[in-house]
Amino acid sequence: MLEQLAALDPAELDPADLADEALLDLIPAIHVGGTKLTALLTRAVAAADRRQVHRADGMVTMKSWLTGHCRMAGGEATSLVRAGRRLQELPELAAAYADGLVSTAHVQVITAAVTPARVATAAGAGIDLAVTDQVLTAAARALGPEDTSKAVRRWVAGIDPDGVLDDAAGLPRVFRLAPSSGGRVYLSGHVDPVGAEMVHTALEAVMNGHRPAGDRRSHAERQGDALVELCRQALVAGTLPEVRGERPQIRVTIDLLALCAERGAAGVGGGELPFAGALSAETARRLACDAGVVRIIIGPDGLPQDVGRARRTATAAIRRAVIARDTHCVFAGCRAPAAWCDVHHVVHWAHGGPTSCENGALVCERHHTAVHEGCFSIARDPGTAVWHTYRPDGSEILIRGPSP
Ligand SMILES: [Zn+2]
Ligand SMILES: [Zn+2]
Repeated sequence: MLEQLAALDPAELDPADLADEALLDLIPAIHVGGTKLTALLTRAVAAADRRQVHRADGMVTMKSWLTGHCRMAGGEATSLVRAGRRLQELPELAAAYADGLVSTAHVQVITAAVTPARVATAAGAGIDLAVTDQVLTAAARALGPEDTSKAVRRWVAGIDPDGVLDDAAGLPRVFRLAPSSGGRVYLSGHVDPVGAEMVHTALEAVMNGHRPAGDRRSHAERQGDALVELCRQALVAGTLPEVRGERPQIRVTIDLLALCAERGAAGVGGGELPFAGALSAETARRLACDAGVVRIIIGPDGLPQDVGRARRTATAAIRRAVIARDTHCVFAGCRAPAAWCDVHHVVHWAHGGPTSCENGALVCERHHTAVHEGCFSIARDPGTAVWHTYRPDGSEILIRGPSP
């Protein structure tokens, strides 16, 4: 059998040379071929596991033999051994797998759920395992792995109502934030169904709370913005637990030259966030514009010059006054509510602009970004008290259509 497998040498082939049509035919064929090989691997592991052959190599379990001799990840070895054992009880699924009619993902979803305890419960309730095998195999052949997983959960709920809860309750909630060198921070993790419902409900509320006209963001982008907004509102509300005796606050370290430089000036540094890392000068200026952010200014000698504390009482009074005057984001066409807004310094404080109602403008986070990083500008006409918004080229953005 080893010779037969060795005769197949895909490394010799180069699919990049194929024409479009041939390439589209080849991809599903390789997928099926790969599945058949994984099914064969699963049967080989099952046979070895049954005969406990790993003991000859001094390994106590087949899983440890696979991780040690095949450099498999622990989770991968566990699901392979488990699939091998349980497929022996599910001949219809095993046959479909051997023929490449269902994928490895389908098999993992089903074999993870069809535990010996559930099989015993099902037998006690008069449900024949052969029928289960038939129904779940039919689902796997017709549906993708995600929808097969739903069918599997219905089967579990039918024979073992507590089992659905047990599965969920046993899941730890995991969430990771991983900054990368490219300035992006990657989020990953998983939660149980109840946790997911809470996250989803809170995000939906934020997403639907403010949807400006002509919003072209994708669902995923709006969800990403909503997550950040949820955290921003929690920080602003001041209800989060204190950390080492201090209210949790964003701290930004900025180079004095970058802070005072004109927009786009070359050769000036930028800012730095303690967790997420380096920022452009424009973004650092925007963050430092908000009085709720602690700014640490580094002088030309590389030493901190001024650690500006957020003056909570003074800025809270100014914020209230600015909210009373502006009521919503003042950027042309935006009506984002005050709770979503920063108080922008029309003349940046680094250029002598005071933290005052007169110098303040209520802008939502997106438009605060547009003003600092996007070179848009806003100005209030002192005569009419009307706000005007200007594009980077200096032309004014006028509201099209009837005003609200
Ligand atoms: Zn600002
Ligand atoms: Zn806005």
